[in-house]
Amino acid sequence: MEALNRKEWGFSPRQIAAVFLTHAHIDHCGRIPKLVKDGFRGKIFTTLPTAELVKILLLDSAHIQEMEAEWESRKNRRRGRPDVAPLYTVKEAEDCFPLLEPVAVDERVDLASDLSVCFRNAGHILGSSILEIWCGSETSPHKVVFTGDLGHKHQLIVKDPYHVHRADTLFLESTYGNRNHKSIEESRKELIEAIHYSHQHGEKVMIPAFAVARTQELLFLLGEFFRKGLIPRMPVYLDSPLAIAATSIFRRMREFYDDETLAVVNKGHDPFDFPQLVLSRTAEESMAINLTAGPAIVIAGNGMCTAGRIKHHLKHNLWRKGASLVVVGFQAAGTTGRSIVEGASSVRIFGENIVVRAKVFTIGGFSAHADQKDLLDWLSHLDSPHVRINVIHGEEEISRQFAAVVRQRFGYRTYVPAIGETIHLEAAPPDVGIELKAAERAGRERVSALLRKARALEHLLESAPESVPPEMLEAVEEGISEIERRIDALIQSIG
Ligand SMILES: [Zn+2]
Repeated sequence: MEALNRKEWGFSPRQIAAVFLTHAHIDHCGRIPKLVKDGFRGKIFTTLPTAELVKILLLDSAHIQEMEAEWESRKNRRRGRPDVAPLYTVKEAEDCFPLLEPVAVDERVDLASDLSVCFRNAGHILGSSILEIWCGSETSPHKVVFTGDLGHKHQLIVKDPYHVHRADTLFLESTYGNRNHKSIEESRKELIEAIHYSHQHGEKVMIPAFAVARTQELLFLLGEFFRKGLIPRMPVYLDSPLAIAATSIFRRMREFYDDETLAVVNKGHDPFDFPQLVLSRTAEESMAINLTAGPAIVIAGNGMCTAGRIKHHLKHNLWRKGASLVVVGFQAAGTTGRSIVEGASSVRIFGENIVVRAKVFTIGGFSAHADQKDLLDWLSHLDSPHVRINVIHGEEEISRQFAAVVRQRFGYRTYVPAIGETIHLEAAPPDVGIELKAAERAGRERVSALLRKARALEHLLESAPESVPPEMLEAVEEGISEIERRIDALIQSIG
């Protein structure tokens, strides 16, 4: 995975005119500084919260790259090997900032005569977006929809995802395409249970969490639990300068909150603060947490336990009976977090074997990703029988399983592209691999042309429905009915 970050792009960044960024999670924005370093000079269109969050995330990422490169280089020098350059530096991360171009949600932005984009709320994290992109000529328009990461109706803090009705080509995420999460209610109860468990044993609750979104959701919940008296009083350490910075951005972006969060604000509370919260910025403050005995909740990054301050807390607490590890986020294959979730009796941390005696609570219901049921529900609002769906952003096997479910449920053409593969927007689906004779090919070309014309008509009706007189609509309907009858007859005679 790491090596992929350094891979060539497969295109020239200089020739890219614009980047559309769906949200601030590092797996979506982490290579932007490399893109700029390699020659990209266009604009990076995104929403305001994403533009703000992405800055602190890229600075943090660059800082880590610099530290790791320095560490590797020192090791290499001792072995007589050359220095290692960071993927990008802090300065190179800062070079991206002037290219960020915040745009309003739900407003169509025309970038060229044949290219427009609209950012729609994805309901995943603050500022997250689904992209609607219109491209191609007026006679043959093509609408591409890119879901980014999709959220769901019960997602904390943010509004529900926007439903897209039309698309010619859809890029659909599938992180949880093969399973369903537990309900958020159940997950709230499990979190409360974990906190009670460690409180009774006088031990700590460790919660590895991504600095952006998951941390703020946890703060939101813990604030609610304390105010309602659902958990006993104990300190909550937010042990992450990055999460502290992200939280202050969340605090400023009230217009992006859902009703539940606004209700908390309207009652005079800060949704991300409560008296028990202790912010830990410096390394000294972080170390002091492990010198303090007694029950406490510690939120630290990173979310998969592979780096960051959470590793220190795991080293000090994972072996302690009565402590608990609350896993609230996705754990990728090969990470320390995944090993623990899968029941490892010990894990290696800072070169030491640490035995797992803490109780592990895996709470799936806080996921900011749509699960299979949510993805299918979101798809059910799509009304484009001809759409071609590219199933992406999932472990390959999961994407394949989900693509099969989509084909079976809706009859859509689905495809699971490989990394680096080029997708031709007008191309026929690759699973139609039959050698066609010239006459048949000509027939197919005519059908493709017909489809394009039909799409042009659809686009006309879609973009200016009020300017079409009723008698014209009637004529359209009659004409379409006639074509439908002829096509049905053709299908019958062939099949
Ligand atoms: Zn995401």
